[in-house]
Amino acid sequence: MKHIAFIGLGNMGAPMALNLVRAGHQLTVFDLSPAAVGKLVEAGAKAAPDAQSAVAEADIVISMLPASAHVEALYLGEQGILPRMCDGALLIDCSTIAPQSARKVAQAAAARGLAMIDAPVSGGTAGAAAGTLTFIVGGDAAALEQARPILAAMGKNIFHAGGNGAGQTAKICNNMMLGILMAGTAEALALGVSNGLDPKVLSDIMCKSSGRNWALELYNPYPGVMDNTPASRGYSGGFGVDLMLKDLGLAAEAALSARAAIPLGELARNLYSLHSRAGAGALDFSSILQLLAPEKR
Ligand code: NAD
Repeated sequence: MKHIAFIGLGNMGAPMALNLVRAGHQLTVFDLSPAAVGKLVEAGAKAAPDAQSAVAEADIVISMLPASAHVEALYLGEQGILPRMCDGALLIDCSTIAPQSARKVAQAAAARGLAMIDAPVSGGTAGAAAGTLTFIVGGDAAALEQARPILAAMGKNIFHAGGNGAGQTAKICNNMMLGILMAGTAEALALGVSNGLDPKVLSDIMCKSSGRNWALELYNPYPGVMDNTPASRGYSGGFGVDLMLKDLGLAAEAALSARAAIPLGELARNLYSLHSRAGAGALDFSSILQLLAPEKR
């Protein structure tokens, strides 16, 4: 049993932390939202009044925050937790952030004698709840081995992408593809429905045809086609439009730095940007369907 500090109990962090409690670990949690903390306390975790107190006795610190700025502030900011951590503690950041931010924090941790891995995840909120996430790790192999039993309590697949920041680079490539696939899937469904097809029948057909993909098969963006998807609960929960927009921005930055061409990634970024500016930033990203089928607003 490890003493784990878990910081960031949102759509992903909460179910991940719950799986660690269920696996028998001692959890101390912190989130800016008292309601999010309350749910974990009901499940047996201990609440900390702030992030610094949360990490004071932890062997392992896990963070699951929205973006680079939150992660840098948590570890390196004025009230940063790095100076407060126990000697020998292992840091695992599961947020999706810029590779250069991941390297910056890992370097500062190393200067304090602490190992850190970036371990962004794939699999969505359903994967987080089921404990079947894919972890995409950047960092030392030895630190990954230390983290492996903890990651295994929250996920099914663990990949080592390379050194610090490499997990983030791989995750950004994956999410650029996801953003493109979700927009394409929504476009195809909206086209079919506009021409008189039933979205469920069209989805069944495409799931057994060459258009099959994860967004269509497991995260269908059309309301009512699948139970338990954000589309079937008013696009609530899930993976926010603004988080997808952040990831497509990270892809754009990575492309600029390597002079890589990402025409479809940039198009997807512009679509999610328009959708966000129309007021949909907090909805699940599958709501991009509303941009293509406004009658579904
Ligand atoms: P979320 O917005 O639901 O949760 C973020 C949580 O962090 C919130 O509860 C917020 O209160 C908390 N928080 C923010 N700043 C904080 C601080 N300084 N201290 C403590 N808590 C703080 O986001 P999410 O959907 O859980 O995503 C988290 C990360 O995981 C993001 O980087 C996202 O890109 C990535 N991700 C999300 C999904 C998904 O399906 N939602 C899937 C894979 C990866």
